[in-house]
Parts: sequence; C-alpha cells; structure tokens
Amino acid sequence: MQGKIALVTGGARGIGRAIALRLAGEGADIAILDAGSLELSEQTAQEARALGVRAMAVRCDITDYDQVVEAVGKVKEALGGVDILVNNAGITRDKLALRMSPEDFDAVLSVNLKGTFLMIKALYADFMKKRAGRIINIASISGLMGNAGQANYSASKAGVVGLTKTIARELASRGVTCNAIAPGFIETPMTASMNQDALQEALKSIPLRRMGKPEDVAAVAAFLASDGAGYITGSVINVDGGFFMR
Ligand code: NAD
Repeated sequence: MQGKIALVTGGARGIGRAIALRLAGEGADIAILDAGSLELSEQTAQEARALGVRAMAVRCDITDYDQVVEAVGKVKEALGGVDILVNNAGITRDKLALRMSPEDFDAVLSVNLKGTFLMIKALYADFMKKRAGRIINIASISGLMGNAGQANYSASKAGVVGLTKTIARELASRGVTCNAIAPGFIETPMTASMNQDALQEALKSIPLRRMGKPEDVAAVAAFLASDGAGYITGSVINVDGGFFMR
C-alpha cells in the first residue's frame, strides 16, 4: 500500500485505530477523522508515523457536511488525496424500541448512516476522476440479523449495507470498489460499555468461542483495500467468529 492514502473515520480508538495502524503497517499514509478527543486521534497518528508513514488527525463530526468538506479539504491539502476511505465511526444508544426516544433514533442514524453517506459524497467526485479507489464501510451483524434493543443501530447498519451496494454499482465502472464489513462482538470501548451479562450469554453462541479483536476486523479491511480484492465489490464480509452464518 506504499504511496496510497487512507482516511479512517473514528480512528481515535477501537476498530478504527486498529484499521489505521494496520494500513500504516502496510505502508499507507493515514488521515484520522474523529469527533472525540483530538489527543487520542493524535496518539493514533503518532503511532502510525512511528511505522514510517505520514499521518494526521483532524477533529470532525461526520454528521455535519460543512465539517466533513473542511476536514477532507485539509487531508487533501496535507497528504494529496484519498485512495482508501474507511467509514468506521459509529455509535450506539441501545434501548427497547418501546423506550427509545425519537432523538435516540435520529442520533444513531445520523452518525452511522448519514455520516457514512456524507463522507462518500465528499470524496465521490475525486474517486470518479481518479478511476480507482476503495471504500470500506463498517456495518454490523446487528444490521443483518436484527438485535433486541438496537432498533436504531440495526436499522442504521442495514442502511449501510444498502448504501454500500448502491455505491458499488454507481462507481464500479470507474474502477472504485465499495464493500462492507459486518463485525460481530469485538473487544472495544463500545462493547466494554455493554451489559456484560448479555455479552457473556452471546459468547456461548459464537462457534469460535471468543470475542473478536479490533485487529481481526483490521485484517479484513486491509485485504479489501489491497489490489488482491480488485474483483470484490458490493460484498458484506462477516467478521464474527461464526456467530451469524447466512
Ligand atoms: P468505539 O466507540 O470504540 O469508537 C468509535 C469512534 O468513532 C470513537 O473514536 C468516536 O469518537 C468516533 N465517533 C463517534 N461519533 C462520531 C462522529 N459523529 N464523527 C466522527 N467520529 C465519531 O467503537 P468501535 O467498537 O471501535 O466501533 C467502530 C465501528 O465498528 C462502529 O461503526 C461500530 O458500529 C462498528 N461495530 C463495532 C462492533 C463491536 O463489537 N465493537 C460490532 C459491530 C460493529
């Protein structure tokens, strides 16, 4: 991936951080866009630089198109363009639908689905002109199988799958691929804040009998970003230890 530039949203921590560092390890320059602590994003960028690549962190809320356009502009100015877009930033606000407020629903749809769309929109023309590129969206098995307590989240991730397939079709003739990864239960700050009893219960249904690591997801993202994945587009790859077999 030498000479390629990768933009990873939500790269300050968790899965996004692992993806950024994996791509950096394979030689790609890295831009991290995150709405959380700039210090954490800078830390990931610093670790990427230690791997010998260029890396930068920009504070950006992906639900705000003005911020997205400004951040993408900064990345293009500093690094030269984007070859690999990884839409990883995401949030949960779990509750049974009965108790889920309209605001909880909007907030999750706004980051997970609309934010992914806005990032793609901001780079769409560049990808078309370049006639090459990789878009990798982080969905979830929750969007494929549903999950009690996650009406907002599973709807957003099912939306990401539909968005992925549409963008795959729109950009295929330009040599740009767009795929999704559907992680199962992965050890990150997001799952650390979940009900641990429910998590232990879910573990029993994972054939590989362990939670995934951010690096398990990063390895698949690196493959999808590679030249070897050039004939894969519109696909959803599960990284879930066999939890949800279609
Ligand atoms: P995390 O909460 O550890 O990290 C998410 C990152 O996204 C944070 O750094 C946060 O600041 C950033 N972010 C949140 N809202 C943002 C916004 N509006 N704009 C920019 N950045 C924003 O989460 P994670 O577990 O690493 O999850 C990463 C992705 O993987 C998410 O899309 C999540 O839905 C998905 N996923 C995670 C799991 C899991 O088990 N952890 C399973 C399936 C899917």
